[in-house]
Order: sequence, then structure tokens, then C-alpha cells
Amino acid sequence: MTINANTVSHVDAVVVGAGFAGLYMLHTLRDKLDLEAAVFEAADDVGGTWYWNRYPGARCDISSYHYSFSFSEEIQQEWSWSEKYAAQPEILAYLGFVADRLNLRQDINFETRVISSDYDEASQRWTIKTNKGHTVICKYYISGVGTLSYAANPEFEGKDSFKGEVYSTSSWPHHGVDFTGKTVGIVGTGASAIQAIPLIAQEAKHLTVFQRTPNYATPLQNGPMDEQEAHAIKANYGEFREKPGPLWPEYLSRKCGSPFLRKVLKRSKNTWKAAGKKAVFHCGWAVMATSFLTKRPTKSQQSSFARRYARVKDPRTADLLCPDYLYGTKRQPCETNYFETYNRDNVSLVDIKSNPIRRITERGLELDNGDGYVFDCLIYSTGFDAFTGPLFNLNLKGRKGVSLREHWSEGPRTNLGIMSHGFPNFFMITGPQSPSVLFNMPLGIEQHVEWIADVIRYMEDNGLESIEPEKAKEDDWREMVEGIANSTLMPKTNTWYTGSNIPGKPRSFMVYLGGGAAYKQECDEAARNGYDGFILGSADVQREAVAS
Ligand SMILES: Cc1cc2nc3c(=O)[nH]c(=O)nc-3n(C[C@H](O)[C@H](O)[C@H](O)COP(=O)(O)OP(=O)(O)OC[C@H]3O[C@@H](n4cnc5c(N)ncnc54)[C@H](O)[C@@H]3O)c2cc1C
Repeated sequence: MTINANTVSHVDAVVVGAGFAGLYMLHTLRDKLDLEAAVFEAADDVGGTWYWNRYPGARCDISSYHYSFSFSEEIQQEWSWSEKYAAQPEILAYLGFVADRLNLRQDINFETRVISSDYDEASQRWTIKTNKGHTVICKYYISGVGTLSYAANPEFEGKDSFKGEVYSTSSWPHHGVDFTGKTVGIVGTGASAIQAIPLIAQEAKHLTVFQRTPNYATPLQNGPMDEQEAHAIKANYGEFREKPGPLWPEYLSRKCGSPFLRKVLKRSKNTWKAAGKKAVFHCGWAVMATSFLTKRPTKSQQSSFARRYARVKDPRTADLLCPDYLYGTKRQPCETNYFETYNRDNVSLVDIKSNPIRRITERGLELDNGDGYVFDCLIYSTGFDAFTGPLFNLNLKGRKGVSLREHWSEGPRTNLGIMSHGFPNFFMITGPQSPSVLFNMPLGIEQHVEWIADVIRYMEDNGLESIEPEKAKEDDWREMVEGIANSTLMPKTNTWYTGSNIPGKPRSFMVYLGGGAAYKQECDEAARNGYDGFILGSADVQREAVAS
């Protein structure tokens, strides 16, 4: 619902964000649970990731038909994708279509940022405040703020002194940018930069790429969607979503991961090693990395692998593009003409690992060894403060005024990656310690939304006022998440999965690697057992339980 500023409003539920997560949550609360729900979204329209990340070349790198909602057969049948891997404008149009189809925009408060979130123990309600002067009191508070929505902007000395045009891939101007005839510098060579660099190079007079970490990148092999394949998917959507078929790999379906895994995980810590191998084999971006994930590749294996993809003529540039981390332990970017771009006369690659950026100047930047570069435009593509960044930005204060930042001072503490002790009735869609970015995100979002909706229905049906995880359960869950991760090589590399791309962020592995199917069973089992591991109760009962 639309909320008036400068008055105190009461609703059943507040949702933050209008990407995949916020849209489906709103539809579920309003149209399935018949609750009053308000959504706050910082942007002026729906789309989330696909609203903000409009840089040239932005597109999904799991197939378009997988990268979409499954909850409505009508929506599945009405929408057709034009490319195997849809570009940002098409995904944004899709989310706009979903919002219109379900009349969602009318209940979203756009251009409104949530700035504080306080839990009142006496009334067992959250008070949410926004930058536009809204104050809303609600029983249920649901975060759809995304995992990759808070940019990691390195604090270079003199950052504000640059007088040219400055862009960030994670909040690209809507009118697009014409680089024709311009000298351009781009800082970063992660997944977004790998998509953008080939297209910017085609326009720019000269493009200088500042690389700290070379990446293994796999050819995307995009192309127009094959009509027969689309027809086959639409005729078998149920199966397509559920399990692998000749046209669709397992790791993008709900059956991601093996059913045996859950049993193995429950047995003992020692079996995590085997479980981790199996889980990673089946799951997400890492599917191609299986052979290396639990065994270190030799240096020559790594270089030969990288060189195979480094279709680069200049040997010095090819060497610089060779990754030096364990294959598969970072998110696998997908590329189209990325390596060939370095064969162009107007593109140069500069290593800022051995010779870091010392400062930003009025006309460009300067490296540690004194080398200076001058540009018309400077682009930052430096990644995200993933998982926790957008959540901390909600300024949550839970029971006894303890902030989420304090509670998570040594890394996230959750049960199932959905709720945290001391923050009753606060739910995180694709929160840290859930499969999130190492699963098919729309399917992961749907599973969370539906699990949260079931909790709310249960609470309403049973006259309950609040729910939060037992503190001890958070320790168990963290041990499980880290245990699986530590049985692979994934935590050994500095990545945003571990938080180590952000100076000072506590290191912990923030993705459940057990696979979507095993994870769903964990969530379903907790629900089936009357929300085992959660403190649930009416006002008095719960306060007693927490005090004891
Ligand atoms: C460039 C890029 C490519 C990606 N490609 C893929 C892919 O191929 N496959 C895949 O599975 N995933 C991919 N992802 C991950 C992607 O983020 C998810 O797939 C999905 O879009 C997440 O949806 P969401 O609704 O959870 O969050 P988001 O889409 O991130 O939306 C969160 C929304 O919350 C809003 N918000 C945050 N904080 C506040 C606040 N305090 N107040 C108000 N509003 C707030 C933001 O403005 C944003 O609109 C990609 C991510 C990026 C950045």
C-alpha cells in the first residue's frame, strides 16, 4: 500500500526492495495471505539488480528460461525470451511485465530508502523509518534488499578530485553513455567489467583496464533463443523447473544437489568432506570447477587452462590475464569477446596488483610507481559489499537495542540463512548462509518467500506474536555452512563469498554449499516440526522463553 509521509502508519508487513524478491513477497502477502503490506524501494521503478546495473553488456549468465519466476504458469506461458542469456533491458522489461500483470506497482513506495528499523519489545512491533519521512509500524518485516545491491567503492585518495565523467557499473545512467572519441579508464575486471569492456572498447578512443585480479572467464555462447527449444520448455515447464532433462542442467533446477546429502550432513563433521564434494559438483556457478575444487591444481595446469581462454596475441598481456587463484573458487564470469578485446590497438591492460593505484587525480589516476594516466571518463567496477552490506544499511536494532552489525560482528549468525536471534519477525530473503548466489536466484527467492509466507500463516492461524531462532541454533547452522565450505577449496581464495573483498569485514563463508534441494529439505523439516529451532509464542510466552 502507499504510505503517507510525516504520519505514523500501521501495516501487517513491510518489505524492502522491488526486485525479484520484493515483487514476489508483495504478491504473496497481499494476494495469497490477504495482509496489508507496504514495499519501500530506493529506485523509481521495479527491477532491483536490473534497474541499477545498466552498463553495456549487462546480461544474466544462467539461461533466460531458468532466470525467471516459476510460481505462475500464466506468466511462464505469456513471456518469451529472445536470447539464450537475456540482456539487462529484457530482464527489466520482464520484471515490469510481472509487476503490471499482478498490479504490484500500486503498493510500492518508490524513490524511498529505509534508513532505520527498530524493534520494540513491549509491543513486539517493528518501526521502520525512511528518508522521505515515513514512519511505519508493522508486525512482519521482510528484507528483499538483495545480496549484490550495495557497491563496494574503494576509498582511493583524492577520489573526488577527478574532473571528468565518473561512472559505476552498479548504478549506470539510464540515458546510457556515449564513449565515442573519449579516453576511458575502468578499474576492476570482475564479472560486470568482463561484460562491459568489449563493448566500451568498440566506442572509446582508448580504453585502459586496471586489473587487480585476473579472472577465469568462460565463453557465454549466447545467441537468439531457439524456437523449438523454447517450445519444448514451455510444454514441460513443471519438469524443467524440477529436475534435469536433456536440455537443462540439474544445477539450475530445484533438485540441485543430491537427496543423500542431507543425511550425510546430519551424520558428523567428518563426512562433510564427501558431502561438500558432491554438493559442489551439483551446484551453481561452481559446476565447472569440480575437478579443482577439492584438489589443488598445479601451476602449469592453471596457466595452460587460462591460456586456452586467453586468446590474446601479446604474450605480456596474455600473461597478465592468467589467473593465480584456485579455479572455481571465485564466481565464474562468462564472456563474449573479452580476451580478443585486448588485441585491439585502442585497449591496454595495466596490472594494479603489483603496482596499486596511489591516488585519483584531477585528470585521471596515479600508480604507486608514479606512472600517471589521463582520461575523459573513469569507470568503477569494483564489486559489492555482498550479503551483509545492504542488510546493515537498514540500520536494524533488535531486542535490547542490539544492532545487526553488533550481533554479526564476527560474521553472519542465522538459522537457515533466513532469521537471526534477537531480531524477531525479521526475515531475510536470500540472506547470508543460504544457497543464494550459488543456486538459481529466482528459484531460491521463491522458496524463501513461500517458506516465510508459511511461517506467517502459521503465526496468524495460531495467534502467535513473534518468532526468532534459538541462539544455539545459529551456532549449529554456521558450523554446518562453514563445515561444508571448508571441505572444498572455496574459502581459501579471497572473494566476496568470504567477505575478504571488503577491508575489515570479518571473514566467514556466507553461502550454504549443500545444494538447493538439501537446503529446502532443511527448511521444510524445521516447518514440519513446528518450527524446530525457533522460539515461537504469544507475547508472554515468548518473553519468558527468551529470558530463560
Ligand atoms: C550484474 C549482475 C548480474 C547478475 N546475474 C545473475 C545471473 O545471471 N543469475 C543469477 O541467478 N543471479 C544473478 N545476479 C544476482 C541478482 O542480484 C539476483 O539474481 C536477483 O536479481 C536478486 O533479486 P533481489 O530482489 O533479491 O535483489 P535485488 O535485485 O538486488 O533488489 C534489491 C532492491 O532493494 C532495494 N533496496 C536495498 N536497500 C534498500 C533500502 N534501504 N531502502 C529501499 N530500497 C532498498 C534496491 O534498490 C534494489 O532495487 C546478478 C547480479 C548482478 C549485480
